Amino acid sequence: MTTIVLENVSKRFEQAAGGKVVYARAVDNVSMRIASGQVLAVLGPSGCGKSTLLRLIAGLLIPDSGRILYDNVPLEEIPSQDRGIGMVFQEGALIPHWEARQNIGFFLWLRHREHEVPERVARISQITGIGLEKLLDRLPGQLSGGERQRVGVARALARDPRVFLFDEPFSNLDAKLRSQARVELRRLLNEFPVTSVYVTHDQVEAIALADRIAVMREGGIEQMGTFQQLYHNPLNLFVATFIGLPTINLFEGEVRDHQWHGLNFGGYPIRADLEDGTRIIMGVRPEFIQVAEEGVRAYVESVIPHFSERHYQVEMSANGEQWVMLVPIETRVEVGDQICCALDTGTITYFDRETQTRVG
Ligand code: ADP
Ligand code: MG
Repeated sequence: MTTIVLENVSKRFEQAAGGKVVYARAVDNVSMRIASGQVLAVLGPSGCGKSTLLRLIAGLLIPDSGRILYDNVPLEEIPSQDRGIGMVFQEGALIPHWEARQNIGFFLWLRHREHEVPERVARISQITGIGLEKLLDRLPGQLSGGERQRVGVARALARDPRVFLFDEPFSNLDAKLRSQARVELRRLLNEFPVTSVYVTHDQVEAIALADRIAVMREGGIEQMGTFQQLYHNPLNLFVATFIGLPTINLFEGEVRDHQWHGLNFGGYPIRADLEDGTRIIMGVRPEFIQVAEEGVRAYVESVIPHFSERHYQVEMSANGEQWVMLVPIETRVEVGDQICCALDTGTITYFDRETQTRVG
């Protein structure tokens, strides 16, 4: 198994802009370590540089500066046939005029080991619980989107990859298929622990598949950690708002006498070195605002049931501010009700409004 290290990797692209050539940084000074056998999700909005980063890790693009190492060996010193990269793209990238069997067996065939294909296929079918065998004689055009991606995963796996790279492989599938495909891939990764990088804009997918998540924005990595770390200890407002569904509630206010003051929920103690008048934003996750005996009186604006999670997602408003909270399904809440809300103070995070960084 392989440890991947990135050291200050940058990549920019030439872009024509009104007759002039400008350079846009797609990947900006990224350093990270992906431990052997780990799955890292790179999570970020569209256009932030995820695919470019993945192609750099695959050696399909050369960095302008910085280095990429597989087990301490610079990638450019490893001949491409020894890199052992299995890649799965959004579009599957299967050879269209080859049957699934040939697509899956391609790398084994290259090494004169095509006799191993049936056994591989049987093993993958067994682990994922899908009947891959019945797809083997079909051309990619005769497969559904979900089946194509499964063949794509099987093909990447059949070559015994040192490194597994995924670029939003399930993003074109409908919600149900996507969650099924996720479960199958998770089983495969448990069974064949290959160092993996999984690029996605979907946090649910990142949580389901990855050991660690790197949140990416405008070419840079904002924060890297487990989902719990990112969720409970975001380093800045971008990570705080990007992670979590429904989104974290933000309340604007300022520091007064070492306390937070805003339109609602005022008076909580805050870091003592923050000067009076510093403008800060208080962040509270929806599940940490509760219906209480005492607290801020607010109106119920809307109620959306989430039956499987046994709560309502409730939108509240008071004094011109709005927030979302999660209320147990046993509680009676209706639009137009007035209820008292209180915060679980141990879970509050604060951010500087100017720098957007965490201050408490
Ligand atoms: P993501 O995968 O997160 O959506 P990409 O890595 O595809 O983002 O793109 C990052 C940025 O780099 C975008 O602004 C994109 O337009 C630009 N970019 C990507 N590839 C090229 C290219 N070959 N030439 C010029 N610009 C590119
Ligand atoms: Mg992309």
